[in-house]
Amino acid sequence: MKQCKCGTTRNSPDAVPVFEYSIGGMIKLLFGLTAIPTYYKFQCKKCGEFFDELNETELKNFRY
Ligand SMILES: [Zn+2]
Repeated sequence: MKQCKCGTTRNSPDAVPVFEYSIGGMIKLLFGLTAIPTYYKFQCKKCGEFFDELNETELKNFRY
C-alpha cells in the first residue's frame, strides 16, 4: 500500500480524501444517483503530501 513520507496510508486517520465531481456528476448527485468522481486522492493531514489516488477501475467501482 502506498504511503507518504511520514507513513500515512489510505486507512490511516491522518488521510484526508480530496475529490471532485464533474458538473454532470454533481447533477446526478442532486438527483440521488450514483456519480463517479473525476478524481479521488488521499492527502496526508500531517505533511500535506498527496500520496495515493484511486485508479480508473477503483473509481468505476466507487460508491459514495
Ligand atoms: Zn505525511
